[in-house]
Amino acid sequence: MELPEHVDHLIVGSGFAGICAAIKLAEDGETDLVVIERAGDLGGTWRDNTYPGACCDIPSQLYSFSFARNPEWTSSYSPQPEIWDYLRRIADEYGVTDRIVFDTELERATWDDEAQVWRCRTSSGDVVAKTLVTGTGGLSEPRLPDIDGVDTFQGALFHSARWDHSVDLAGKRVAVIGTGASAIQIVPEVQQVAAHLDVYQRTAPWVIPRNDRRYPRLERLALRHLPALARLYRTGIYWAHEGYVPAFTWQPRLGAPAEKAALANLRRGITDPTLRARVTPHFQLGCKRVLRSNTYYPALAADNVDLVADPIARITPTAVVTVDPATSQEVEHPVDVIVVATGFWTTDQPVAERVVGREGHTLAEEWAGTGMSAYKGTTVHGFPNLFMLTGPNTAQGHTSVVFVIESQVAYLRDAIRTMRERGYGALEPRAEAQRRFNARLQRRMRRTVWSRGGCMSWYQDAQGRITTLWPRSTFTLRRILARFDADAYDVQVARPTPDREAVA
Ligand code: NAP
Repeated sequence: MELPEHVDHLIVGSGFAGICAAIKLAEDGETDLVVIERAGDLGGTWRDNTYPGACCDIPSQLYSFSFARNPEWTSSYSPQPEIWDYLRRIADEYGVTDRIVFDTELERATWDDEAQVWRCRTSSGDVVAKTLVTGTGGLSEPRLPDIDGVDTFQGALFHSARWDHSVDLAGKRVAVIGTGASAIQIVPEVQQVAAHLDVYQRTAPWVIPRNDRRYPRLERLALRHLPALARLYRTGIYWAHEGYVPAFTWQPRLGAPAEKAALANLRRGITDPTLRARVTPHFQLGCKRVLRSNTYYPALAADNVDLVADPIARITPTAVVTVDPATSQEVEHPVDVIVVATGFWTTDQPVAERVVGREGHTLAEEWAGTGMSAYKGTTVHGFPNLFMLTGPNTAQGHTSVVFVIESQVAYLRDAIRTMRERGYGALEPRAEAQRRFNARLQRRMRRTVWSRGGCMSWYQDAQGRITTLWPRSTFTLRRILARFDADAYDVQVARPTPDREAVA
């Protein structure tokens, strides 16, 4: 599809969020919409993360839309290609693929208050839109480590989310930097092919067992033909995961049974007491994302793997150099390939630098002193008709983001409906409503394990504020997003201007 000059709704990104928004808006008759996608295919994080071992770490059942359940998952934690295929199939079935303009990146979106439109510059040209919906994801911009000499490395070096499949790891000396959710899926796979693997750990994570199983044919048949059973099954999994919420948001001591399970997992996987001690976490479970694996610890214990817990001093053209903090002695670890599994830009997302609001400053500037914040995680004062899917404080560590996306899309639909019915041309949350919402949210945040658990994580920004996670249950978030609350908004009646007319 070609980029049009005018459109009612411009959706940025074609991951779960963008696809969901496009499907549901079209269902409401809001068919004048376009999705722009910077890559040549849709799928967001499930397109980008093709590393060996990539799969969901929350059960597959929750990686489908509630309105398009997938009875075809082959196992309880589906591999990335299955999830990506699912998303592409659904986008096709619901007619969204034809509404996507590929290889088109949002460069600048500027609110024009006079015309009540977003004037957007993209890599494929300009487009004017009444509403701007960002589905750009919180985990989409790889964060490369700021390590001295990293640019001088002469072997292959790539980020986990940009896996270079042309590099054959067989027989090579490989380094994996990081021990987060991506690394613990990568390590067991690389261990099987590499001659030698060094795993660079800065903080030992909590790793609970993963109750993985393949779905037998009979079970898949039942899920396909008995929708009530499929619904019940999915609901059961949802509530089982929601059970983590009190331990995360209210009383971290409730996480003790999960800590026990993780320590048993560690003991099962590693017999060497020295290695066990080095990978035993020193913060409360839940403070960082809880990881799930049955194969990570056995991989660390394998003969061809070294766990390196000393800090990295620098990278040379051929090696990673660490320094022993006790003796200041440096050790050089020769390596052919470096995989950086060092996470993503989460609290300072590039899209925030590209969206310019009513007062002429960017979202990034708006948030510079205070950290990211929005009203109900979705709309922002000073940025009319902007809807941020997976916006500030909507992420969670215990369940699938698809549930949150559907909740936000329900809010977006109701907002658009309200605008049509009441003839509004622009709306933005009142500053006071947004301030009060976030003050309450941050008060709750103080007692969460993410604040009190004794760790640093991607949940926090540089000032230590947690601007990514939602500190309550996801059903509470769904409840507060169920209805568009126009009384919390400043609204403007639609003005007839040439650009709005063109859009209409
Ligand atoms: P991450 O959780 O942010 O982990 C990054 C890792 O790199 C951490 O171990 C971090 O150490 C380390 N690190 C960062 N900079 C470093 C440096 N300069 N030197 C040494 N180590 C460094 O990133 P991720 O593993 O990609 O996961 C991000 C999120 O994506 C997850 O929490 C999860 O929400 C999602 N995810 C989901 C799945 C799934 O569903 N299957 C899979 C992968 C990721 P510290 O701990 O000390 O900071």
